[in-house]
Amino acid sequence: MSKANNPKLKSWVEVPAGSDFPIQNLPFGIFKTRYLTAVAGVAIGNYVLDLVYLYEKGFFDGLGLPPGIFNQEYLNSFIELGRKKCSEVRERISELLQIDNDELQGNIAARELALIPMEEVEMKMPIKIPNYTDFYSSEEHATNVGTMFRDPENALLPNWKHLPVGYHGRASSIVISGTSIYRPKGQIKPPDAVSPVFSPCMKLDFELEMAFITCANTELGSSITTEEAENNIFGMVLFNDWSARDIQTWEYVPLGPFLAKNFASTISPWIVTMDALEPFRVEGPKQYPEVLPYLAYKGKKNFDITLEVTLGEGKAKTVISRSNFKYMYWNMCQQLAHHTVNGCNIQVGDLYASGTISGPDKGSYGSMLEITWNGKNPIKLNDGTERKFINDGDTVTLRGVAKKDGVRIGFGDCSGKILPAK
Ligand code: CA
Repeated sequence: MSKANNPKLKSWVEVPAGSDFPIQNLPFGIFKTRYLTAVAGVAIGNYVLDLVYLYEKGFFDGLGLPPGIFNQEYLNSFIELGRKKCSEVRERISELLQIDNDELQGNIAARELALIPMEEVEMKMPIKIPNYTDFYSSEEHATNVGTMFRDPENALLPNWKHLPVGYHGRASSIVISGTSIYRPKGQIKPPDAVSPVFSPCMKLDFELEMAFITCANTELGSSITTEEAENNIFGMVLFNDWSARDIQTWEYVPLGPFLAKNFASTISPWIVTMDALEPFRVEGPKQYPEVLPYLAYKGKKNFDITLEVTLGEGKAKTVISRSNFKYMYWNMCQQLAHHTVNGCNIQVGDLYASGTISGPDKGSYGSMLEITWNGKNPIKLNDGTERKFINDGDTVTLRGVAKKDGVRIGFGDCSGKILPAK
């Protein structure tokens, strides 16, 4: 276990109760403020620690980091250094922030410059994402959708328990939390109509997901085993895979979702490292029937991360779902092993989303489609208004928190507001 994960650690930087960013977290992101271009930082309490400044002042001397590694508008080159080197950097940052360490704490001028209040920074996309894959790995979600649209008796398709179903998504439209999203337009075929119509989406939805980011390039023809998988994963973000259900229903046969999904997906700005998530490992659901050998794995590969979705702003703001990442039937190691078993190469910065994470009970469904059962059971927000799907002007925010031994590690907000169709 990394020393930086010790629950007893305290920082000299004030971390308010309930903060997502205690010293045990130290997630990496890209921010913009006094520099002309965006640069790398780490979150601590209500501050961003400027890694460029620390590097230039020699605080990372001896780690063998390439010059300019943090002075870049994406973290790709940094995470490409690999899990081991990135862990060393996180350990060093932890050291510098510990209450009994005086190196930075004791240098008033340096600490003033190194710590920037979060309200003064603008967070940018942390990664240049070359490829994006979306899985479909929550049994409860797949069962709900299968029940709704196909056959309750055979809700899961025959392949579902034998492989982590997925499809290739669109990387160019993945945006950072806080980016407004235009309601998509497209072909919709109302159930009683003979022909499709062109219209703004009338069933706009969110999908509560998490995503992992890979930190290695592999060669075509090679595969990653479940055992090697975690060594290729840098960390995780929250992921809202906005979905146009009415466009999806009409277009998805036989090749799967296309324009219903590729208009936007939102990620949270801070990448929480797999190192920081280490203490939160849990067993996954029992897998039956037994999986093929290349999907078998050892150890705890699921993570206990409570998830929450709010809809609406101000008085309307309402928690509409509480779920948990631990419900995933297929874990990240199995997803990556399956993805590469045919020889598909991975790249630094690739993003792999979990698929909608629904839990076993009604309050834990990860999409409006399931919460309102395709609009049949509208929900009431705190201001008394009703929703079947997402209205123009609505904000959807995902949050994720892992808690154990008095430590609370969060992901920050993954938030987006819907604007009328352009
Ligand atoms: Ca999805």
